[in-house]
Amino acid sequence: MRQCVSDTVKALRQLASEKGLKLEAKMPLDLPDHVFGDGSRLRQVMTNLIGNAIKFTDSGSVSLQVEPEMQTSEECVLLFSVTDTGVGVPAEQQALIFEPFRQADGSATRKHGGTGLGLAICARLVDLMGGRIWMESIPGSGSTFYFTAHFKRQTALESMQRVVAPAPRPVAPTHETSLRILVAEDNKVNQKLALRLLQKMGNKVTIANNGLEALHILAEQAFDLVLLDVQMPELGGLEAVAILREKEAQSGAFRQPIIAMTACAMSGDRERCLEGGMDGYVTKPVSADVLIEEIRQVLPGWRGPVSAPAPAPMPAATEPVNQWVH
Ligand code: MN
Repeated sequence: MRQCVSDTVKALRQLASEKGLKLEAKMPLDLPDHVFGDGSRLRQVMTNLIGNAIKFTDSGSVSLQVEPEMQTSEECVLLFSVTDTGVGVPAEQQALIFEPFRQADGSATRKHGGTGLGLAICARLVDLMGGRIWMESIPGSGSTFYFTAHFKRQTALESMQRVVAPAPRPVAPTHETSLRILVAEDNKVNQKLALRLLQKMGNKVTIANNGLEALHILAEQAFDLVLLDVQMPELGGLEAVAILREKEAQSGAFRQPIIAMTACAMSGDRERCLEGGMDGYVTKPVSADVLIEEIRQVLPGWRGPVSAPAPAPMPAATEPVNQWVH
């Protein structure tokens, strides 16, 4: 929701600044992050109202505010308001303004152009979104256009449960020396370093760029071990492990061994990871010795890395890949 609102405002900022107007978006902290809805329709209505506000305002500001009017864990009604410091709409015109081919008055039509259809279309779209549209205006000092829209809510957990369908899980960790390891890590340099380290130990390595990607991959493939970075975009390690453990509890599936990788080696961090559902914990930069020891703890049947290291592919010479970053 925040993204949708701020993208809309960003797209109109140039138009506002050409007229010397301030354009801003206000969103309170309790605005839901994710809702089910038609983003393009919503953007169309916001764009139309803000565009109008800019058109009919010669000085001052235009602001878009979004706030929850009602919200439960399943649904919400959001109230959008676009306020300007423009010419305003005469009282006798206010009732007609959402009807097709009407504008505030004939002179405004000529001065400002437009088809007079914009607000009628907005009213239709708002109706389709289960909301209402109305306006308040003091001629000469500005207008506020309001609309509400009804959305179903989606929690992060629910959205993950949708993508992480029940999938065949490994029956038990392999006792072979070569492990199938999924590394979820957002940093490209760290990815290469982890790949090199783990391949040298003779393992088969798959890389995921964030927690969400890791969950998608885990839903389809079996791994002996997951190395999960804690700090990742889209979905962090602790969020991903919470979702995964919840799924395992529901389906009674085998518990996926997971080792957290974190850059913040602060006291209490290890406990936070273990309490969060991780089985082990290493800090970056990850050294081979520490990692091997941690894998032994997490996979008691593992006999250690193969004695003859597999040749690791060398990283591209142009990139310095010898420094772990967080
Ligand atoms: Mn990271």
